[in-house]
Amino acid sequence: MYLWYPPLPLRAEDDGLATLTSREQAEVERRVDEALKHVLPRTVRTNSGKGKSKAASFFGGDDEDDDGVADVEADTGPPLLSSCPSLCELSMDLHSLYLQNGLRGSGCHSSLDASRPWLVYWCVHGLDVLDRLQSDLSDESARAIVAFLARCVHPNGGFGGGPGQQAHSAPTYAAVLSLAILTSHPACAEAALGVLRTARQGVYDFLLRCKVASGSGDAIGGFRVSRDGEVDTRGAYTVLAVASLLQLQSAELTAGVLDWIAACQTYEGGLGGEPGNEAHGGYTFCGLAAAALLGGPHRLNLPLLSKWAANRQMTREGGFQGRTNKLVDGCYSFWVGALFPMLDRLQNVREHMQPDELHRLFDDTQATTPSTADDAAATAGGSSSSDADSLDGALESSLFDSLALQRYILVACQGPMGGLRDKPGKHPDLYHTCYCLSGLSVAQHADQQQASRTPLLGRQDNLVAPVHPLYNIRHAHVERIRRVFQQDKKQ
Ligand SMILES: [Zn+2]
Repeated sequence: MYLWYPPLPLRAEDDGLATLTSREQAEVERRVDEALKHVLPRTVRTNSGKGKSKAASFFGGDDEDDDGVADVEADTGPPLLSSCPSLCELSMDLHSLYLQNGLRGSGCHSSLDASRPWLVYWCVHGLDVLDRLQSDLSDESARAIVAFLARCVHPNGGFGGGPGQQAHSAPTYAAVLSLAILTSHPACAEAALGVLRTARQGVYDFLLRCKVASGSGDAIGGFRVSRDGEVDTRGAYTVLAVASLLQLQSAELTAGVLDWIAACQTYEGGLGGEPGNEAHGGYTFCGLAAAALLGGPHRLNLPLLSKWAANRQMTREGGFQGRTNKLVDGCYSFWVGALFPMLDRLQNVREHMQPDELHRLFDDTQATTPSTADDAAATAGGSSSSDADSLDGALESSLFDSLALQRYILVACQGPMGGLRDKPGKHPDLYHTCYCLSGLSVAQHADQQQASRTPLLGRQDNLVAPVHPLYNIRHAHVERIRRVFQQDKKQ
């Protein structure tokens, strides 16, 4: 358990030529510094050349170094220890209330009227990551949600953004994931499974209609998100994730898709929304997960993708940006963060794999749990040698700094009244609450297949449930739903 971590690197530089981008970056760094200064170790700067010594805040603004002699910074430990536990604490109760209120429809969500299954997914999955689904989602609410999602099924197949709305791959994905999660709630498990069973054939018909088969140039092999909708990697991922869960991956559905996904990888290493577009965190997640679901991650240049992903972590803030030269944003804690456990499992895949074989790579039954070691020394402000060894091992084995990501989410993204946000200065919302919590899960469980323990920032109560990086629901739900529909197919 770590209560503070670690000294931050230097600020971004603008080479003396300030632009709108560099000014925005400086403002974000100022706000993040303000949030983080309470949990970072104080340093003593000594100028050995003049023999003087003075205490200064880590962000203290006293940067004179006029004699050319390097200052020496000595870590004196966390000075604000009394405030550290609360500042590094995940406010589970407040976030649960925030998500429950979201399910009741409080807040202004009129602009999301065509995304109502998304609202359900963000809330239900958020509660599930907090391990509060069973305790905090009432039986009545659980049954009402399943009934609502059943009304979103379009008569011609697929789920719409609300009752009576046109089917779309994104709400279909959100609805199927939500129902998969709710098959674990005692009050609605049977009903949720019943909706999936009833909708399954229509969903397949809809997914097949999304496929771009011929006559569309470089879009062949891609998926539209809806009738006449755009073709992008979101479409491919949402279709393939649903098809994988419901056991609908036919040759007709998947033919040519890997070629199209591979064409979306850019010279930077990430993937764009479609061939020729700029690499982007969300689309890269969709492209890599879709390629993995098809058993063909080797079709992408994974070393280049790894390099691109590792460079999205902001050196000062600790969170991720979604594109080169963009600002940190809490939602990329998952969209980019989940690339690392995927890359970790997929790096040695050299040839095509069958879906079951691929899923075994993500089997978490051998996983170690994050270190919640009861280290009194850490609680008291120091860290033991075993903690230090564990930290070194975890950081060496990972392509990203999981502690820095946890720190950004816990300290900079939590709203004081519950909910999580993009960055300091923004309001929490349901989308960022879901993906910040999912990113926290990725960070806490990042090294679960490594021998070293994954370090946990803050109290052990901060520990959230592990999520399956290909689907962003808990592993048990993935296994349960895939097993049910595998058995259904055999009958
Ligand atoms: Zn965001």
